[in-house]
Amino acid sequence: MRDICSHNSLLSLTKALEKIQQSLPIISGEESIILPHALGRVLSQDCFAPFDLPSFPNSAMDGYAFHSDDITEAAFSLKLVGTSWAGNPYSGEVQRGECIRIFTGAVLPSSLDSVIMQEKIKIVETRIHFPNNIQAKENIRYIGEDVKKSALLLAAAKQLSATDMGLLASAGLYEIKVKRKIRIAFFSTGDELSSIGSQLNAGQIFDSNRYTLMALLTNPCYSVNDLGVMPDDKNTIRNCLISAAKSHDVIISTGGASVGEADFIQEILNEIGQVDFWKLAIKPGKPLAFGQIGNCCFFGLPGNPISVIATFQQIVTPALQQLSGLAVKKTLQLKAMCKSPLFKKAGRQEFQRGILKQIKPGEFEVISAGRQGSNILSASSRANCYIVLSREQENVAINEFVTVEPFSTWI
Ligand code: AMP
Ligand code: MG
Repeated sequence: MRDICSHNSLLSLTKALEKIQQSLPIISGEESIILPHALGRVLSQDCFAPFDLPSFPNSAMDGYAFHSDDITEAAFSLKLVGTSWAGNPYSGEVQRGECIRIFTGAVLPSSLDSVIMQEKIKIVETRIHFPNNIQAKENIRYIGEDVKKSALLLAAAKQLSATDMGLLASAGLYEIKVKRKIRIAFFSTGDELSSIGSQLNAGQIFDSNRYTLMALLTNPCYSVNDLGVMPDDKNTIRNCLISAAKSHDVIISTGGASVGEADFIQEILNEIGQVDFWKLAIKPGKPLAFGQIGNCCFFGLPGNPISVIATFQQIVTPALQQLSGLAVKKTLQLKAMCKSPLFKKAGRQEFQRGILKQIKPGEFEVISAGRQGSNILSASSRANCYIVLSREQENVAINEFVTVEPFSTWI
């Protein structure tokens, strides 16, 4: 508790997210695309059902269709007069005392109202024998039971899932209107950085952040532009930002965002745009610059690889969701029993990397993924969750419960 006082000047993640949310512009513009290209895109308009779904009454089973008036309390039999195939309806009449063979999805003739599943009957020559206790009007899919004609199929701002693709296809909607992609440019800064594929000179390291960002930005709603590595040179970075801001909605940089001698991001932003620079009360990822250059949003992320990932996920992702026209979603959080000690000082909210295990459905255990330094990529690569520790939390003992955020629903 004592330590937290010295961290009072740090901005909480919640406050930072609120500030960003309030200052983001609304990106307008839509495009027409065809359904095969629509997965993951965000609808810009409501979609309505052009006809009833289903559009005709049909069988939910492979079986026999009949009329409920023919049901008797005791077992009974009906004469088999034909077949309704899926895609090839029965075209004849069906009288009382008669039935037809019917398959799943096949049209139910208008003179019939019930289907019995094939496992329940016996066939004796041309007659179908029904057992007693038959229920009327079962195994039928009714007109419009899924969606009625002209009813809302999917609302604007919905991000299209695999199921939505099926829903739109079932209504025959091939061309749809979606929000335009947001144009994102990103680059790394640092004199020590060399791009993979080239030689490393003394004191150089390979630029890894750009490859992480490339992956994190792989999203059907984003159109992404890799601007490469910039040296720690004010003019180069300034020119790059001015030019990229003209043709992008968002620029993301990594490195140079702190207050060291070679950290120019804040200074440049002050000159060419508006900047909010924060020391965030999170670990990893303390220094973060956020601002605007004209109409373009700028995120100056820290340079350390794990800080890049954490600030991207916790701060940039919600902002990009909002810019894409989506409602900002909450990350799934679970409680897990911690099976390794965790080291923490009060002061900053921490996103420690953990390995989550499902003991049985709904019961979870987690251990630390290893060294927690913001430069340690290997432990993060082993991790499958964040262990989220509040600002005031101190060391965690074995068997204490902690909050975790799984990286995916498969663990
Ligand atoms: P900075 O924020 O520029 O002071 O960088 C902090 C640390 O992150 C330093 O150790 C940098 O070498 C490292 N770093 C910065 N950018 C990258 C990058 N693109 N890839 C890998 N490490 C980086
Ligand atoms: Mg640097």
